Formats: sequence, structure tokens, C-alpha cells
Amino acid sequence: MNQQIAVIATGNRHKLEEISEMLKDFSIQVKSMDDIGLEGLEIEETGTTFEENAVIKAETVCGKTGLMALADDSGLEVDALGGAPGIYSARYAGEQGNDEANNKKLLEALKDISLENRKARFVCALAVVFPDGLKIVVRGTVEGYIDFEEKGSHGFGYDPLFLIPAYQQTFGQLGPVIKNSMSHRGRAIELMKTKLEEIFNA
Ligand code: IMP
Repeated sequence: MNQQIAVIATGNRHKLEEISEMLKDFSIQVKSMDDIGLEGLEIEETGTTFEENAVIKAETVCGKTGLMALADDSGLEVDALGGAPGIYSARYAGEQGNDEANNKKLLEALKDISLENRKARFVCALAVVFPDGLKIVVRGTVEGYIDFEEKGSHGFGYDPLFLIPAYQQTFGQLGPVIKNSMSHRGRAIELMKTKLEEIFNA
């Protein structure tokens, strides 16, 4: 079996946990940024799309390590807010990665809006970059609604607000097994696995 090493190019431990779990039975050996001495590396996200930002992160880490790198750029698009916060999801309330402030700002922005107009989706672009320059980019999405208050303690980011209509529960309530089976990241990983298998088996 092919055992290529892939660095997961993220400093977000939640993303790392989810991606590692999704790849655990796949034929690549996963390394974190910590594993290869790149903890704390800040990569400026200068792209204008999820895909561009995912490629920037994967290219940077592949360039620094000489190893295949996989990066995720993801976020939340809310229809009533014209697609915001989108690529700015991590810093919606100003400070990078302040989930509590981001959720509060989102609830405030939607405070007079009825449930049927609170439609939203999570988007995940995944990029894999190989040392020879080969690049693969895929996108996964999941549709839902923004709830009126935070519910549940699983996951991270906007999970406690992201309501899945089929379950009438948020990702924060549903937990990792159900989330990973249907999430934007789960879907993108499945697409990526198919593409990588084609390359490894060619
Ligand atoms: P990135 O690190 O620039 O890709 O920012 C991703 C941001 O989008 C995170 O900080 C979260 O705010 C949000 N986000 C992305 N994926 C998820 C998810 O699976 N659950 C909850 N929030 C997410």
C-alpha cells in the first residue's frame, strides 16, 4: 500500500482532529504542523476565494517541507447577509479565531430575521499540493440554517448555531460522527480521497 506522507497545513486543532479522523483509514500518513516543527507558522490568506486561500496554505507548507501538503480553507455563507462572513469567517468579529465573539455578532446581525430567511451553508475548499507542483482542489458544502441561540458543546466555530434541518439539531448537538459524515469538510475529503486514489493508482 502507498504510504505517502501528507502534512495537514493548519494551525486549527479542531480542523486537524476532524481531518485526521477522516483520513485514518486512508493510505497516507498524516503529519501535523507540530510534528514537523512548523507550529505557530502564520500564513497570510491573501486570496479572494476559499480555493485560492487553501492553495496558498498548501503551497507554503509544501514549499517549506518538500512534503505533500493538504490545506483547508473554510467558512460560513449566510444568504441574508449576502454570503458574509464567507472567507472572513474566522475574523468576522475582528479578532482572528474568536468563536464566541463571532457567534454573538452573527446572532445580532440576524436578530430580526425569521427562520426561513436564516439559510446558510458551510463551505470547505481543500487543496493538496505535491512537491512536483501538482495541485488538486475540491470543494464540499453543507446546507443549513442559523439557529436563534447557541446549542450544544461539540465542534467549534459556528457549530452551535448551525442547524441541520433533517435532525432539527445543530452541529454542536450532533457530535463528530454525524457531523463528519455530512459536513462540508467530510464531503470535500471524500472528493479528495477519490482524486488521490486515481493518482496513487495511476
Ligand atoms: P480559516 O481558518 O480561514 O479556514 O477559517 C475557518 C473559519 O470558518 C473558522 O474559524 C470557523 O469560524 C469557520 N468554520 C469553518 N469550518 C467550520 C466548522 O466545521 N464548524 C464551525 N465553524 C467552521
